[in-house]
Amino acid sequence: KKAKTLKQPMAFYDQDDDKAQYRELLIINGLPKGLKQNQLFMVFQPKLDIKSGKCKQVEALIRWQHEGLGLISPNEFIPLAEQTGMIDLLSTWVLDNVLAQQAKWRNMGVYVNVAINLSSTDLDNPNLAADVATKLSQYLVPADTITIEITESVLMKSLEQTIVTLHQLRDIGVKLAIDDFGTGHSSLAYLRHLPVDEVKIDKAFLDEFETSQAAKQIVKTSIELAKNLGFEVTVEGVESKSVLDSLHLLGVDTIQGDYFAKPFTASEFEHSYLQLNYP
Ligand code: C2E
Ligand code: MG
Ligand code: MG
Ligand code: MG
Repeated sequence: KKAKTLKQPMAFYDQDDDKAQYRELLIINGLPKGLKQNQLFMVFQPKLDIKSGKCKQVEALIRWQHEGLGLISPNEFIPLAEQTGMIDLLSTWVLDNVLAQQAKWRNMGVYVNVAINLSSTDLDNPNLAADVATKLSQYLVPADTITIEITESVLMKSLEQTIVTLHQLRDIGVKLAIDDFGTGHSSLAYLRHLPVDEVKIDKAFLDEFETSQAAKQIVKTSIELAKNLGFEVTVEGVESKSVLDSLHLLGVDTIQGDYFAKPFTASEFEHSYLQLNYP
């Protein structure tokens, strides 16, 4: 923080803090209205099979075109929704939106598994699996065409309910993925007791992949161990041909990143998914 020289203690006041707080307030207060008015929307980033280069899945990612603040990143508003208890509202909206989209795609003959990000608060909800099951039948979407991504840090809280919910989701038939693997300090050995199909190696390691021997070793070891334990391995954040080549050699199954495809709107995706391949 900037040092302040002010005459009166009463005047301790930081304009930047104030601005940040005001922005938070706009975001928090604007969320219910934003959801109602469709200021929020989903984009879909392809995940490609590393061998065939074909798109086998998309990850649904939320965006908010705020009326006053412009486009806001989920990295900013998801934590605020979690802190204020509004994540329930948001996640319900995401599930409805994505399942409706998936139903539409299936009717059009666009067959692709869709991954949905849920937050730790969602997994603490004992009704989550039942709610998901109800929605799947409501939208006529087969459970195994949906993957739920949970960040690794969620598991580190090791809440009993989280584990129960994961098993219930697995029983329904949805696929499960551990997101941002490597950031939560859990071990793959621990993950092997969980009903998880896929491990996504965190982008942070990829960012250093070519400059840091240590980062490269972490990625390499994680991939080997995950594969030995029977998980599918996805690497996200692939931005270059040289990284892709290394991942090929390391035996990665699935790749996601701006090098192949940035997140698309639903209609952009419909028009291009068959052509998607390595550039
Ligand atoms: P995530 O689930 O790990 O999603 C991957 C993020 O990495 C996305 O950022 C994606 O756009 C970005 N990414 C993928 N490949 C590349 C690349 O090659 N280069 C770069 N620079 N970025 C890449 P995004 O969309 O900003 O989402 C950030 C995070 O917000 C997500 O991380 C996820 O944790 C959360 N999030 C997004 N949508 C939702 C949602 O619907 N619900 C919840 N609960 N969280 C969401
Ligand atoms: Mg994710
Ligand atoms: Mg991730
Ligand atoms: Mg992330």
